Amino acid sequence: MTSFEALRQQGIRLCDDLRRNEKAIIALLVPIEKTKGYLDLGYSSLYAFCIGDFKLSDYQACNFIAIARKSESVPELKLAVEQDQITLTNAGKIAPLLTQENKELWLPKAAELPKAKLEMEIKKAFPEKAVRETIRPVAENRLEIKFGASAEFQRKLARTKEILSNQLRKSASHEEAFEILMDFFLKAKDPVQRAERAFAKKALLPCPGRVNSQKRTSLEAGASDKNSQEDLRELFNLQRSRFGRFPGSLSPGRRSDSPAKASKSPYPGRVTPSRIIPRTIPRKILHEVNQRDRGACQHKNCGQKHWTEVHHIKPWGLGGGHSLENLTTLCSAHHASVHRVLKS
Ligand SMILES: [Zn+2]
Ligand SMILES: [Zn+2]
Repeated sequence: MTSFEALRQQGIRLCDDLRRNEKAIIALLVPIEKTKGYLDLGYSSLYAFCIGDFKLSDYQACNFIAIARKSESVPELKLAVEQDQITLTNAGKIAPLLTQENKELWLPKAAELPKAKLEMEIKKAFPEKAVRETIRPVAENRLEIKFGASAEFQRKLARTKEILSNQLRKSASHEEAFEILMDFFLKAKDPVQRAERAFAKKALLPCPGRVNSQKRTSLEAGASDKNSQEDLRELFNLQRSRFGRFPGSLSPGRRSDSPAKASKSPYPGRVTPSRIIPRTIPRKILHEVNQRDRGACQHKNCGQKHWTEVHHIKPWGLGGGHSLENLTTLCSAHHASVHRVLKS
């Protein structure tokens, strides 16, 4: 039977290997981020890549990335971690707040204090970080949601609950107050909901993902003359071969290839020539994009709904128009990646 001491020595060796490997992984992250190679695999961020490809836990991914990125601007953090002066846990705690100006204060604290005491010091110095935002399941279809808030936030919440309580003829809960506020916001701002309402109103619900070439607008037609369908197919193939399943849908986003405001016709009161196409994507087309793509990035394996933008598959500068088939939804990371490829 193996003696306790032999098992202990084996454990010590494995833990040494574990720490060494963790540091080696952290050292890899910034070079990986610089290549942005994970975008081609469908990951929209280094974090998503670490979870999906390296199979790190959420905690490890957040911690490692925070330490790696901060080590670029404060190399002393990297050095302290490499020399085992600061644990990875404590390094991850101070990484978000560490600067060149405060490193003399926080690096020694992270080296000397145990995790719980370091957390208390951080909360004292940065009260807004005192509560970590969490969403935790507590039963089927029930969650516990936790976040910090200001006194002003509390005042607004209290007022919302007063008004809602009057309407409901009963005391409104936090959940009811938040729900009604979110419903208001989503009704006004969610591009997918707005598209659905617009189509329902006009009874124009298109078949999702289907392009109706018979219904192209004159604006699109203006951009699509001169063998443009062939050009478009070529660009589709180029981008598809590199990025996977898109094109295939359109969605509204915070930003698009077009500027936020429509350019005015240079010929007031006259019919706009067919070649002069407003750069703003027409609302109807945007609705069709949103209806089709459901606000999600169409890059293979991505599907992210944060920071989405509408992309012209055939670039605007090359005559790409606002047709449904020439527009697709991309997250900002994949959008930038597609444009890098188109430039190269
Ligand atoms: Zn674009
Ligand atoms: Zn994406």
